[in-house]
Amino acid sequence: MSDSAQGPSTRAVHSGQDSDRRMVTRAKTQPIYQTSVFVYDSLEQVDDFLAGNPDNYMYTRLGNPNHSAVEELLRDLEGGEDALFSASGMAAIAAALLGRLSAGDHLIASRELYGTTQSLIEKELARFGIGASLVDIADLDAVRAAITPRTRLIYTETASNPLVRVSDVPALAALAHAHGLKLLVDNTFLSPVLYQPLRDGADLVIHSTTKYLNGHSDATGGVLVGDAEWIAQARRFQINAGGSASPFESWLTFRGAKTLALRMAAHSRNAQALAEALEGHPQVARVHYPGLPSHPDHALARRLFRKGASGMLAFTLKGGLDQVDRLIGLLQRAVFAPSLAGVASSITHPGKTSHRALSAAALAQLEIHDGTLRVSVGIEDSEDIIADFLQALDAL
Ligand SMILES: *Cc1c(COP(=O)(O)O)cnc(C)c1O
Repeated sequence: MSDSAQGPSTRAVHSGQDSDRRMVTRAKTQPIYQTSVFVYDSLEQVDDFLAGNPDNYMYTRLGNPNHSAVEELLRDLEGGEDALFSASGMAAIAAALLGRLSAGDHLIASRELYGTTQSLIEKELARFGIGASLVDIADLDAVRAAITPRTRLIYTETASNPLVRVSDVPALAALAHAHGLKLLVDNTFLSPVLYQPLRDGADLVIHSTTKYLNGHSDATGGVLVGDAEWIAQARRFQINAGGSASPFESWLTFRGAKTLALRMAAHSRNAQALAEALEGHPQVARVHYPGLPSHPDHALARRLFRKGASGMLAFTLKGGLDQVDRLIGLLQRAVFAPSLAGVASSITHPGKTSHRALSAAALAQLEIHDGTLRVSVGIEDSEDIIADFLQALDAL
């Protein structure tokens, strides 16, 4: 059960839990229902399932108590009508887009979208006749100019990868709704503890729960939260396309999310401290973190993100690729890993990993240089994270 009068830490620990206590064992925390199918005593129970009784399950691709628990928890944290849990962030995004759009439809998306999302739009949706315009999402005139009679939705990310450019969700929601469009927001980089796009007018929120919501780099998953009609369309697509999560991954995510509020406070605090320490260093040309006054979206971030600017930052070395390689070798604690948002600090090089497919001109336009590194700041003691980066930079 959820009670929106309670704080996010309380809800992260308790939401989605009660259904189990109504069931057989009264386990304090949810067991793993590692089963592909459920048994029935009668035809009447089949009718009850098909009538939509949420405590009745048939086959795990269609639903499982571990899906229900994590869906209820994440629905409550984002403050939406309904939620759908999926096997990965991409499975959730595919369900959101392909469950809703049809041939001839068009969408407008940020040109800084997560690489695989962009690839899904350009390589898959395009083959089924769904068109897209990729624009600078900070330029509301450009967004408005891209609207056609076939446009159905606008798609952005709360904060972009790797330079953490912040989207003006309230302004985009107003623009979308003035033209009868829906707004879809990938909130993976912030988490619902720091920002809730639905409250600012978004219609659907997406997370790769592989990142902060699970937070321990040990489970892949994705979730959609928002508009009940859209979730129903996405659920139908997911059942037909087979993107359902395993019970175990769902359970891991449910377990991981209980500490979300504590982790996000630590990630934000540590990232702020590291960003400030890096900004003064002679080897560093630029630091990109919305918690710094030097970031172009600092004022917007302060307006939207009340409890911190999350744990993602980027910085650009004065040197190029050779210095990047040396830094990777010199770091003793932070590991080089092309993912993000786990409890352990990690770095990656966007030019060689997530943004490898982009041309030199496109990278330059996005301000991603040879010396640009992205840091996913973990929850270690902040003095230790800072000391690791400073000793590596000093030794360059
Ligand atoms: C990782 C990520 C995705 C894709 O999620 P997977 O769980 O890897 O499928 C989508 N959007 C953003 C912003 C991400 O960081």
